[in-house]
Amino acid sequence: MKKVAIIGGGIVGSTCAYYLSKVSDDVQVTMYDYGVGQATKAAAGIISPWLSKRRNKKWYNLARYGAKTLFDIAQETNMSSDIYNQSGTIVTRDNIEDVNELYDLAVSRHAEAKTMGQVIKLTDDEVKQCIPIISHALPGVFVSGGAKIDGDKYVNKLINIAKKVNLNVVSQRVSINIDGNIIDGNGNVQHYDKIIVTTGAWMKETLSNLPFEVDVRPQKGQLIELSLNTDYNQETQDMPVLMPEGERDFIPFSNGRVIIGATHENDKGFDLEPSHEIIDDLLNSAKNVVDNISEENIIKVKIGTRAYTSDFAPYFGSVPDYDNILVGGGLGSSGLTTGPIMGKILSEIALGINRDNLEELRKPINNYIKKNN
Ligand SMILES: Cc1cc2nc3c(=O)[nH]c(=O)nc-3n(C[C@H](O)[C@H](O)[C@H](O)COP(=O)(O)OP(=O)(O)OC[C@H]3O[C@@H](n4cnc5c(N)ncnc54)[C@H](O)[C@@H]3O)c2cc1C
Repeated sequence: MKKVAIIGGGIVGSTCAYYLSKVSDDVQVTMYDYGVGQATKAAAGIISPWLSKRRNKKWYNLARYGAKTLFDIAQETNMSSDIYNQSGTIVTRDNIEDVNELYDLAVSRHAEAKTMGQVIKLTDDEVKQCIPIISHALPGVFVSGGAKIDGDKYVNKLINIAKKVNLNVVSQRVSINIDGNIIDGNGNVQHYDKIIVTTGAWMKETLSNLPFEVDVRPQKGQLIELSLNTDYNQETQDMPVLMPEGERDFIPFSNGRVIIGATHENDKGFDLEPSHEIIDDLLNSAKNVVDNISEENIIKVKIGTRAYTSDFAPYFGSVPDYDNILVGGGLGSSGLTTGPIMGKILSEIALGINRDNLEELRKPINNYIKKNN
């Protein structure tokens, strides 16, 4: 029986645990998750990588496979539409030339990314018809395969499936010693055949006893959740996500709930306090899209910490000189999209399963986990 530990229970760790639960006969899994500041639970939930203009081809490959993996997991586990909903995404632009350029980009990517579904150009009126709770719109591009997920519910769903098979969850903050073993929250040494570290923005701290320089920095993200007074009720759940030019993203959920966000605050470290200035800014952005809203519509503020590397690219794989330790992190602002495939691949590496195309998806791990001189 192989003993595997996962440190970190965000989207990467929980997806990894889910895939490891499919080989229950051979593996016993322990997940250590501290929980505080988790990016996955705070995230906006947009899955729509296909219109991104990021030039990093490896990131794009990871993201398109990630969107497909998420779709597959949702199907396999009968995920309800309040957890994963492929209700489409709309990206709008001020002028028609930019809309045409986005449309051409989407069409050119369609052949290798069937998950994106249909691609349709929309006028401003058509955008409003798709999302009737908004008052103002620009023309844009609709991608029917775009989706939204509730990160908190997704993580709980997958962890609960795995717990019924071979997963034990321990709510502790743990570290790794120089010998490559876990020191648990009680100070005891725990031995595992494989340790999979998915601690997001805390990766540097988790690996601090090992002889590495870890390239990761925290970024604070805040968003607000509004409850709109609308006649549409449950129907809002199936309305597409709106990514409007120059404004914050607008993500409709059930019963008139809408998430507006998110911020990218680079100078706040691991701070999790709400900021009134930022909340006002998010609300003002919402007011540019929907009339007659005020701070009374705000029902929640969510805050989490993203993990960024110096070149904004995610990383995953075995740590140099420690064959038993795997890492996956640096997912930045698109980790709900790239996290599912990363979690799946980490489970495969832990089980000794080879994949051919890994170098299409990542840069060398030594770029991010560098040996000290
Ligand atoms: C406000 C906001 C909005 C976002 N919106 C989107 C979006 O719309 N679409 C998208 O694709 N992405 C989005 N993201 C990005 C995405 O949420 C993250 O990239 C992704 O969730 C990171 O997942 P992770 O598993 O690497 O880390 P996390 O989800 O941060 O999980 C890491 C876990 O490890 C735990 N941990 C840390 N150290 C230890 C330790 N020593 N011992 C035990 N446990 C430990 C933490 O407590 C945490 O629970 C958003 C992020 C934020 C903050």
